[in-house]
Amino acid sequence: MSNQTLSLTLDPVVPDFLIDQVQSKMAYLDESVQRAVVCPDGSCMTLYLVQELDLAAQKTLEEKIHRVLTAMVSGALKPRIKILEDKLDRKLPFNKDPMDTLLETGGVYKEGKGMYVLGPLVASLVEYFNRECVDLAGSFEARPYRFPVLISPELLERVDYFRSFPHSLNFVRHLREDLDKIETFAEHAHCENGCLVAPEETQSDIEAMLSPAVCFHLYQALSGTTLDEGVKATAVGHCFRYESSNLTSLTRLWDFTMYEVIFVGEKDFVLDNREEGRKRAQKMYERWGLAYRVESANDPFFVGEFKKQAAFQSAFQLKYEVRAALPFLNDTLAVASYNYHQDFFGRKMEITAPDGKPAHTGCVAFGLERLAFAFLAQYGFERKTWPADVRRALKGI
Ligand code: ATP
Ligand code: ZN
Ligand code: MG
Repeated sequence: MSNQTLSLTLDPVVPDFLIDQVQSKMAYLDESVQRAVVCPDGSCMTLYLVQELDLAAQKTLEEKIHRVLTAMVSGALKPRIKILEDKLDRKLPFNKDPMDTLLETGGVYKEGKGMYVLGPLVASLVEYFNRECVDLAGSFEARPYRFPVLISPELLERVDYFRSFPHSLNFVRHLREDLDKIETFAEHAHCENGCLVAPEETQSDIEAMLSPAVCFHLYQALSGTTLDEGVKATAVGHCFRYESSNLTSLTRLWDFTMYEVIFVGEKDFVLDNREEGRKRAQKMYERWGLAYRVESANDPFFVGEFKKQAAFQSAFQLKYEVRAALPFLNDTLAVASYNYHQDFFGRKMEITAPDGKPAHTGCVAFGLERLAFAFLAQYGFERKTWPADVRRALKGI
């Protein structure tokens, strides 16, 4: 790896409220860029390069940056952040990065980029948060589902995922059903720099992808139906999102676990249940002693769709995030979200609500690994400082 850097002035300047989102998109700029850091006032950026660039390559890079800035920054309006709950001032006993201790003590083991083995402590915390979510879903009498890790490209196409989040997609292939090709693969397949190298023609077309979300599968299962009454469902599932150089710790995984309670029906049914979900979740956060804030947010849409979609979500208050304090960073991390999709999925998937109109949908979604991470970032490893409920649940681990 080289230690070449390139510093650039940004025009337009990235406003404060967009720095994180622009910064995260810079990871997808160009394969010659290892890491990009937007400076705190948004007026410049440092690129850490894989190799030195000639003038032409540098010009191409600058043009790409300009494209990102034009799409995401020019004319962007500052969203009005609405705060629904604020418990950030809770007194906490810990302020270090738990990742350091976890890696040193074998509490987690890094298997690859964004891939970690979770040892007994983190696994038990994930289990605990999972059980708490099961109880929350139970209080709604939500019916349990299990969804595949695979998802069809047709479903993702139907819900506009290719346009909204192309950067995070993951593809599944198998070998072609052809004896010659399978033997060719067996003979030539090997790994180079951590990647599989095998003749391209031995591999199938892409008829499956890795699922980036949980609730899409329910909408698929309900597609083409007319509901007699509102649906309350629940499921836990693996989700896959390629987040490039942003995949640096347990905070951002390639493969993570999401627990969802999902509502499908008429508008008021969905909005009332989402709100009730938020209120009931408050009691869990109390038990966990979590320092957090619930505030309006938007999804991490890719560059071209970002400005329009983010403004739309913000205007209609479609998404709220539960942002847990990370004291060691003096920052917060989204550990859950409360989402309302209006009748988007109802229209796309042809689900009809009892009132005869396209169904509205919403979900309450928890990121289980992030909850475990945020808990350790706030309470550390000294059990006697932990909230009683968590201590009791992990007794004997
Ligand atoms: P972020 O803004 O941090 O990228 P998101 O808005 O994409 O998160 P959602 O789509 O709302 O997240 O997903 C629900 C929850 O799943 C998040 O609140 C978070 O806890 C978790 N989550 C999302 N992406 C990841 C990831 N890459 N690794 C670990 N957990 C994740
Ligand atoms: Zn969902
Ligand atoms: Mg988010």
